[in-house]
Amino acid sequence: MQHRASIFIALFSATQLFSVHAALAQTCASTISQTEGPYYRTPNPVTTEMRLGSDGPLLNMRGRVVDQNCNPMPWTWVAIWHADPTGAYDNVAPFDRYRATMFTDANGEFVFHTIVCGLYPGRTRHIHWKVDGANTALLTTQTYFPNVPQNATDSLYNAALLMQETILPDGTHDDFFQFVVPTSGACTAATITANPASVSVNVGATAVFTANGAGSTPRTYRWYRDGVELVNGGRVFGAYTGSLSITGVQASDAGQYTCRSGNSCGAQLSSAAALTVLGVCTSDLDASGEVDAADLAIMLSAWGRCKACDSDLDGNGQVDAADLATLLAAWGPCA
Ligand code: FE
Repeated sequence: MQHRASIFIALFSATQLFSVHAALAQTCASTISQTEGPYYRTPNPVTTEMRLGSDGPLLNMRGRVVDQNCNPMPWTWVAIWHADPTGAYDNVAPFDRYRATMFTDANGEFVFHTIVCGLYPGRTRHIHWKVDGANTALLTTQTYFPNVPQNATDSLYNAALLMQETILPDGTHDDFFQFVVPTSGACTAATITANPASVSVNVGATAVFTANGAGSTPRTYRWYRDGVELVNGGRVFGAYTGSLSITGVQASDAGQYTCRSGNSCGAQLSSAAALTVLGVCTSDLDASGEVDAADLAIMLSAWGRCKACDSDLDGNGQVDAADLATLLAAWGPCA
């Protein structure tokens, strides 16, 4: 009796598992490819910020890349290019207007901040794309905006490439498209082969961290300070390369830096490297808690040759322009 009961339970479980498996074995239809057109140019800026001045209306171009089983494809390369508000493409080097590339994030998602592109004769409103993972074929296609009258007359228009669109209260267009790129073939997950090293730099100087990765391409690097992802801009350069630079280092840049090497088959995070910012509090010569005019006065009064004096911030035996530059870069409250 007990034996029969366990057979029943086994059969029941197998049936349950089968139906659960069937429910999970989702499939996503591959995104159809379309012509590249005559205006693809390389290299493109690696950025998510494509807005230039007040060219409007604004467009938050969001997307996701998934495989044939609808699983997200992290760290997958995406290129976007589209016409400007007058319907013209940027065909002049360095090809940085309304063209960009970026890798998807850990969830296979991306967003480009751009504008609604203009129309040009013979075509409806459209955006050009390339999508490439480490174990996918390169997809080249176009996507389309809903409610555009010219959709009805453009022979290239395809409803399968229509974006989901919401117009936000401030008039910004929020569009979304899910790209489905089938995976196949061998793929080597990205790894870190050389970790970044800790550095100590004077306030106002440049800090450089380098990391090396390996694995199938396309492959990306991402940098983080205390776990927060860094983006290019301001004093940050190379945030998507193996070499991160921070210019004009300030006290607030101090922290633990890590680098992720990633491709659509896997990713690895480096060990942490510390950035120590020197000369911030050593510039507070009167220990008032602030680097200010009083400290400047102390330094100027000690100007010239000096042995083991506080104002010789870099310890080179002389109070000079280098020490003054360090003090000025540290100006303000001293943490
Ligand atoms: Fe076009």
